[in-house]
Amino acid sequence: MRGTAVSKHPLLDGLNPEQAAASTADLGPTLVLAGPGSGKTNVLTRRIAWLIQEHNLPHHRIMAVTFTNKAAGEMRSRVEKLLGSKLRGLQIGTFHSTCARFLRRDAPILGYRDNWVIYDSDDSQRLIKAIVAELGYAPKENPARRINNRISAAKNEMILPANYQAMSRFDERVARIYAAYQQALQAANAMDFGDLLLNMALLLQRSEERRKDYQDRFLAVLVDEFQDTNTVQYQLVKLLSAPQQFVFVVGDEDQAIYRFRGADYRNLLRFRKDYPQSTVILLEQNYRSTQTILDVAGAIISNNRNRTAKNLHTSRGQGEPIAVHEAYDEQYEADFVLEQVRRLRDSASIAYSDIAVIYRTNAQSRAFEEAFIRARLPYTLLSGFGFYQRREIKDLLAYLRLIYNPDDRVSFERIINTPARAIGKKSLQEFADWITREDLALSDALNLLYYDDFNPLSRTVKRKFREFSQLLSAWRDMAQPGGLGDLFQHIVAQTRYDLHLEKTSQHEDEALDRAQNLSEFYGMLLNADEIGQSLHDFLDERSLYTTADSLEDDDDKVRLSTFHSIKGLEFPAVFITGLEQDNLPHRNAIAEGIEGIEEECRLFYVGITRAEDHLFLSYALQRRPFGGSSINGTSQFLSDLPAHLLDGSPLTLAYLRQARAATAPTQWEPRHPIFERKPKPIAPSANPTIRAQFAAFKAPQKPTLRVGGRATHKQFGDGLVIGIESTGDIASVLFDQSELKKVFAEDLTPLGE
Ligand code: ATP
Ligand code: MG
Repeated sequence: MRGTAVSKHPLLDGLNPEQAAASTADLGPTLVLAGPGSGKTNVLTRRIAWLIQEHNLPHHRIMAVTFTNKAAGEMRSRVEKLLGSKLRGLQIGTFHSTCARFLRRDAPILGYRDNWVIYDSDDSQRLIKAIVAELGYAPKENPARRINNRISAAKNEMILPANYQAMSRFDERVARIYAAYQQALQAANAMDFGDLLLNMALLLQRSEERRKDYQDRFLAVLVDEFQDTNTVQYQLVKLLSAPQQFVFVVGDEDQAIYRFRGADYRNLLRFRKDYPQSTVILLEQNYRSTQTILDVAGAIISNNRNRTAKNLHTSRGQGEPIAVHEAYDEQYEADFVLEQVRRLRDSASIAYSDIAVIYRTNAQSRAFEEAFIRARLPYTLLSGFGFYQRREIKDLLAYLRLIYNPDDRVSFERIINTPARAIGKKSLQEFADWITREDLALSDALNLLYYDDFNPLSRTVKRKFREFSQLLSAWRDMAQPGGLGDLFQHIVAQTRYDLHLEKTSQHEDEALDRAQNLSEFYGMLLNADEIGQSLHDFLDERSLYTTADSLEDDDDKVRLSTFHSIKGLEFPAVFITGLEQDNLPHRNAIAEGIEGIEEECRLFYVGITRAEDHLFLSYALQRRPFGGSSINGTSQFLSDLPAHLLDGSPLTLAYLRQARAATAPTQWEPRHPIFERKPKPIAPSANPTIRAQFAAFKAPQKPTLRVGGRATHKQFGDGLVIGIESTGDIASVLFDQSELKKVFAEDLTPLGE
């Protein structure tokens, strides 16, 4: 079907000609390359419906990969709506959830027992820590997080321990730890996130029979956000879509933001090379944002090298200018957001859930959360230290996982003495030594405790572990579909977890808050019971919950999110916060050089292009991550913004400097608790008359070194003192001839104004 006939087809209703061409492209390899908001996800969804209806592909023989589980759910319901029928077997999920589902059945081929569990990165790090200790390496020089990153990177590149190339001493240790870690995972009958993908790829490579089965089953493979695929994901797509190559991918190189996970936007180029006969379709019309937002986005991204220049245009009109706001610190920044949220709701009738607040690092969410709680405005975290990272939830999950898989060493070690049952480090060591010596599986060891002849443990140690093992087996008998809620109740009652919560909370409110989390978790188990979910389904679902899958997604709540988790979504109003040098671009990225900064630029670009109508950019003069104080300059990206699109005076460096001088507080109390209110400093003003008044601001008679005052430095000349550390010996100064620096106070001579 072509031309007018195509555009009249009900499945293609409202699509522009390029979108219709993409949705109905012939079955061979197809690549849709297009900017944000141009309908890539929309086209991919229509394409699935088209394949089912017009090509008669059975829906259960189609596989689509999305970036989050939530996006998968939305895509499924849209396809169902388009076709007017339920499509139970249609495989839509993230790479991880898809592989987990396949491996649930096939992992035994790779030597796992069928009750394997998934380790999250926290679990992985615990295991790595234990291995570092076992191998006798110093924990300080071998931090678990760093090693875990190396191992994940290797897995993303499909590098197995045997092929790990050590380029440094540290790498040599990583290689050894990697090998031991894989063995420990196998022994614990667990896979980490990287294993889900790698094992699936290995399975397809190694077993011709399974490869054929999967290839026969999936007649078409579709991938959203293709620019963020890494090597193993690329290989999975290639293996699963062979030999017929009915593969359809959509992506945008400018939105590649997962380099740190090994993603390589050059996979878009690789695709064209690997499938030379592929159809490439470009979409240019943006349906999401106002022209102002697109122009700002375009100005930001145009500084990146190696990209195809795109001209994004919209029929949505010019729209309002972009608001740029300077705040004194993160609390004022949060206040500004709150104020605007209220205004948007009251005067523009924008729902809370239509508003997103985006930040670079999870730590930034705290100031916003505090402010929202104080103001009693509803919010939800799309990312960050979410529900499943909470201590009490992790404990209960560890109980459930150990019940399901008695070889799960990490869960075992987490809960063997939580709540306290007088099993100290020494007892645990004795038990662990015995297991290692005899090369026992944890489950076997727990069984052998019942036979005195078969274990050398001291009486008390044996007794304590045996009691625990008895509890475990009783719970295991209870772990049936429909009985998970009861199981939870038994665990909590028999371990006296309620008392443990009280004892380990700082105050009553915290205990109450944690108890509420547990009851929320209980509610989830009851839900699982209602739909007859088994323990492994329940656990898999929890483990695969990505940071971008918020719990309560339909509620009218403001979305707080990192740039990484906001990808693919859109909101009438968007706040991009923390536009400070070292935060965005992040200092780690700056240290990496141009590649790092370009990736940060893409992050900013992704953030901007989430906005439909209202876009706010903000930065704070001072930010206190984790209780310390840091003062940053404004983000280098701010100076790339076209002044005529901004609300307020042109954002020149001179302007920023004056604004800074105007907001410098007259007094600074370094030991202020993070969330306590400070007297409000004078708000920055774009109005030159008002700014001039600040210039008249009087200095004390005898000049002393103080925040807000000026001082001169032997080497750097004159500048404005922005902060003095609590010890009094270090000051942060914004130098007239240079930039913001931390210097010794004794090298400064205060100046009178
Ligand atoms: P991103 O790169 O951010 O993931 P995208 O290219 O996937 O964006 P979509 O999310 O599919 O873009 O579409 C953006 C918005 O435009 C959505 O609200 C979508 O419903 C709307 N849209 C897409 N195509 C059309 C169209 N032809 N007519 C009207 N609205 C459209
Ligand atoms: Mg999309």
